Amino acid sequence: MTKCCPRCGSKNLNYEPWLGEIYVCRKCGYQGALVVEDGEIADAIGKKFEPTDDKG
Ligand SMILES: [Zn+2]
Repeated sequence: MTKCCPRCGSKNLNYEPWLGEIYVCRKCGYQGALVVEDGEIADAIGKKFEPTDDKG
């Protein structure tokens, strides 16, 4: 199963076992042990997430 970021739904996660089973998202910078598996949840998160470039 592919692990996805619970914050932005990106699959671009780095697994950092030396930090204590921590995943680091290379897209939004999320760091944590909680990730979601690829599927409807990740897809829904990805649709909600909006990259903050010049607004907000
Ligand atoms: Zn992310």
